[in-house]
Amino acid sequence: MDILNKNIQFVKGIGPKKALKLNKLNIFTIKDLLYYFPRVYEDRSNVKKIWQLEHDEKACTKGVITNIKSQVAKNNMKISKFVIKDETGFLTLVFFNQDYLTKVFKQGDSVIVYGKVKREGSILEMNSSDIEFFTNSPTSTCKMIPIYPLTYGVTNKDISNTIKNVYNNEKISIQEYLPQDIINKYKLCSIDFAVKNLHMPSDKQSLKIALYRMIFEEFLILQIGLFYLKNGIDNEKGIKFEKKEKLNDIIKSLPFKLTNAQSRAFNEVIGDMESDNVMNRLIQGDVGSGKTIVATLVLALAVLNGYQGALMAPTEILARQHYISLSDTLSPFDINVGLLVGSLTKKQKEKILDKIKNREIDILIGTHALIEDNVEFDNLGIVVTDEQHRFGVRQRAKLSTKGNNPDILVMTATPIPRTLALILYGDLDISIIDELPPGRQPIDTKAFEAKQRDFIYTNFIRDEIDKGRQVYVVCPLVEESEAIEAKAAEDLKDELKQKYFSDLNVEVLHGKMKPSLKDQIMNDFKENKIQILVSTTVIEVGVNVPNATLMIIENAERFGLAQLHQLRGRVGRGSHKSHCILIYSSKTNICKERMEIMEQTNDGFKISEKDLEIRGPGEFFGTRQHGLPELKVANIFKHIKILKLAQEEARNILKNDKNLSKNENILLKKEIIEKFSDINKEISLN
Ligand code: ADP
Ligand code: MG
Repeated sequence: MDILNKNIQFVKGIGPKKALKLNKLNIFTIKDLLYYFPRVYEDRSNVKKIWQLEHDEKACTKGVITNIKSQVAKNNMKISKFVIKDETGFLTLVFFNQDYLTKVFKQGDSVIVYGKVKREGSILEMNSSDIEFFTNSPTSTCKMIPIYPLTYGVTNKDISNTIKNVYNNEKISIQEYLPQDIINKYKLCSIDFAVKNLHMPSDKQSLKIALYRMIFEEFLILQIGLFYLKNGIDNEKGIKFEKKEKLNDIIKSLPFKLTNAQSRAFNEVIGDMESDNVMNRLIQGDVGSGKTIVATLVLALAVLNGYQGALMAPTEILARQHYISLSDTLSPFDINVGLLVGSLTKKQKEKILDKIKNREIDILIGTHALIEDNVEFDNLGIVVTDEQHRFGVRQRAKLSTKGNNPDILVMTATPIPRTLALILYGDLDISIIDELPPGRQPIDTKAFEAKQRDFIYTNFIRDEIDKGRQVYVVCPLVEESEAIEAKAAEDLKDELKQKYFSDLNVEVLHGKMKPSLKDQIMNDFKENKIQILVSTTVIEVGVNVPNATLMIIENAERFGLAQLHQLRGRVGRGSHKSHCILIYSSKTNICKERMEIMEQTNDGFKISEKDLEIRGPGEFFGTRQHGLPELKVANIFKHIKILKLAQEEARNILKNDKNLSKNENILLKKEIIEKFSDINKEISLN
């Protein structure tokens, strides 16, 4: 068996206990372990003289132990002190509850230490430093020390020691998979050298070389994979739709005029539809920019050409809302719209499924239920997915298999800058709606500390309701459990009702409720039978109630910026001035900075750029959601130059070998397929 596929449990020095710990980090095989790269490195390569040490810096120094003292503090803490000296001065090392060290190290020993320096007057101290014997050969303490991303119960030493063990006890050699030409052209080191030096850099330069190779490789694989996905679809012949006069009648019937940005995006889509290539287009538009109407018109054009269309939304609430809105717009033109969601009874479902097959339904709207196997269309010509960031690449693809190369349009309200979008959505062409419908007033956002909660509830809400408006209150995000989140929402509703608003209709909406009840509540809210809607993030996407003008978000620090922006986007949808209040209870600088960003801008592009910067793309998108391989060392902000090179090279490679079937590319292809395999695993129906 290939050594790399060997279970780490069978590595010398790793017992079942340690193996279990590593499993928690998704490390199961030796290969997993070797590809578990450090997050950052501590630079211990520079060994300073004691007199050079500065207050508050983390530094490495060496000396001879001249004095060892142990004492017990009042709280029973054992304190050990070592004084070391070199030819320039003295340094005291202080350790807490580590008195075994006094047995390991003796007066006269030469040691090398790394830690944070404290200088008070002429007294130099280091607390809980790393300490090791110093022999004349370089020891691990004075190098670049890898710092790994960790989980509870696994220490940095656990990982680095395990890796050392593997290299000491096994013969590790990873077969090169990048083509030799590329290696030469970009002067890359071998994969073997790269992996080894990422974990155990022999010096700074080697680490640099190793990092460069790995960053290049990650981008190259990502880009080839994406181009591959796109080309696979691009080259296919699709449907050639024709212009239809009736579409103009539909546009004329709308209660508003399309904005310039809407028209532009719409025309770009029409351009794709009229060509005989399959369309693969993304519409990015800020919350409230009016993407739904563009989708409506696009779907209508397909129907006027004699085809069916499908519109997939991430939540049932949103699907139902789209159903109502599209029916309103299109039924006067004899276009039949149907709804397929998980909560329909078996009978209702069967009826709908029949109608889809018989073409009695022209446009089918629904949730994930649309991609279930039993959904068969007569002739599906176009597929639209709303709020693309909630679906993976593969789910999109699965829906399109229900037609014969239908055109694909995806829409997202988590807009990101074009350059980034080109990378992350490399498989799509992009249109941007960067304009809000006229008459919208910017939403005023203010962040308050939690201690002002009472003031907020007694003042702001009352004011809005007295004006005839309505209010959302979003309660804290509980990542682990929808049940706890639901309970929190119920509790908050009770509190509001009892303490502040006994005269008003306060209701709650959360994911644990029956769909029919959710529906009822959304309807009542739309009709202003409910004044205050307490909700979990189920209202995050798409919900449209123009009379709601105040959004209050509790524990705002728990949400990502893009998510806060989405939530805020539930208000400001009509002509009334709207407000958003963020309540936070964290005092960290990051929290303050994030609240300020929200207060200062309403621009979704800017916000998601900041969010991406703070959280990184993996977390921003949720790697699983967009279905792309994880970037472990590469960073799309820091390494733009390498990214451009890799992007160019990816194009080159595919130009010369479209299917990566030439000998020199076969191993690379295997690696790409493996890295993109999560896309295949990701299909989950609910
Ligand atoms: P989003 O892009 O967030 O999905 P929607 O499609 O839900 O936004 O549109 C938000 C609101 O704006 C809807 O009430 C819609 O009817 C309205 N709207 C869309 N386009 C225009 C327009 N050109 N002029 C005025 N109102 C518009
Ligand atoms: Mg929308």
